[in-house]
Amino acid sequence: MAEEVKVTMENTDSPVQTEPEEYTEEYTETPERSEFRRKRVKRIKLILVLLLIVFLLIPNILCGFLLYQLYKTNRNMEILREEIKISKMEIEKKNQEAAAMAAAAEKKIKEEKYGTQNLVQLNLSDEEKYPNKQLVYLTFDDGPSKYTNEILDILDEHDAKATFFVLAKEGYDDEYNRIIDEGHTLAMHSYTHKYSVIYSSMENYKEDVNSLSDFLFEKTGVRPKFYRFPGGSSNTVSKINIQDMLHFLGEEGYVHFDWNVSSEDASPKMLEASTVARNVLNGIGEKKESVVLMHDSASKRSTVEALPIIIETLQQKGNVEFLPITENTKQVYHVREKTDAEKTEGTGKADKENVKEETEETVEESTEIESDVTKVVDEAVSEALSEEVAEALSEAEKLSEEENQSKEENRSEEENQREEQN
Ligand code: ZN
Repeated sequence: MAEEVKVTMENTDSPVQTEPEEYTEEYTETPERSEFRRKRVKRIKLILVLLLIVFLLIPNILCGFLLYQLYKTNRNMEILREEIKISKMEIEKKNQEAAAMAAAAEKKIKEEKYGTQNLVQLNLSDEEKYPNKQLVYLTFDDGPSKYTNEILDILDEHDAKATFFVLAKEGYDDEYNRIIDEGHTLAMHSYTHKYSVIYSSMENYKEDVNSLSDFLFEKTGVRPKFYRFPGGSSNTVSKINIQDMLHFLGEEGYVHFDWNVSSEDASPKMLEASTVARNVLNGIGEKKESVVLMHDSASKRSTVEALPIIIETLQQKGNVEFLPITENTKQVYHVREKTDAEKTEGTGKADKENVKEETEETVEESTEIESDVTKVVDEAVSEALSEEVAEALSEAEKLSEEENQSKEENRSEEENQREEQN
């Protein structure tokens, strides 16, 4: 059969086409040939089907590939977004650092003006920096108010620095910034100043602190470090454990300051300026460090009036410095965070009242113990005494008995002698 095919092929290829009859004659349909043709057709069909499948698959594969690319891009975008977030945070951090460095540089320049001696003392505590002076830290709570600028003017006139424990109030952007720009300390007090809200749950408390920090950062570009509890750390309003709040503040890097001198200007009835001044001056007395509680509030006019009296009276003494609270200031607090050792000791009560109760208890106990001791001593003494007395008595008895005996003996001897003589 192969030979026959060869022949036909040769015939068709041959340029001589003169014998078509011969060709048709030679090309006869044999079963082998039809089988061969069927196979060819089958092969072509298969190729067509394969081609069809390939053409159908290509778009699907492309689609899959594109979807994968889309997924990859989305992921990359997410990563980028995260990175942007992180770098934003880093920028914020760096800004803060830059602000701190700028402040330090400014401080250095100032210090250089006043000589190298002060330059060396830059990192010393306030006490070390002013060893022979009384240090007064004037603090103003609840501001800013319509009096903030007046207070800042008075401080500026007297070259005195102070600390403002502020609230979050709109419309006082200049005051917030002026406090910082003029070298005072901008510190945190409360976002809402509503005791019932702040102190109702730990969640609310944290939100109050964080909101105020964000607010002040937005207004000034500075995140304050110092904090004063609304009502002080010894307040009795809070439903939350003071130790939990202190722990939170510590973790966030805040330092809380209470006060050791009060102007008493928080009383609902407005005091006379002279009374406010007297309270402060008496409170300071000869204290080495005084953190003075005052209020910067629309209802506290007399505090503003008392301020020059206080500053001038103390400046006339000649050994008083008015300083802002900084990291060089000795912390003044009513309650502080317990150390781990104190926590494990289990003496869980830390606030003032409890401490008071405890001391009262111990005083009671000690008086009880004292009276017990006196009783025991008395008893012991009297016992000892009675024993001694008894001994003495018995000895005395013995002695008198012996005396009697010897007397009797003497008497009988005398009688014997008399009888003998007679
Ligand atoms: Zn307050």
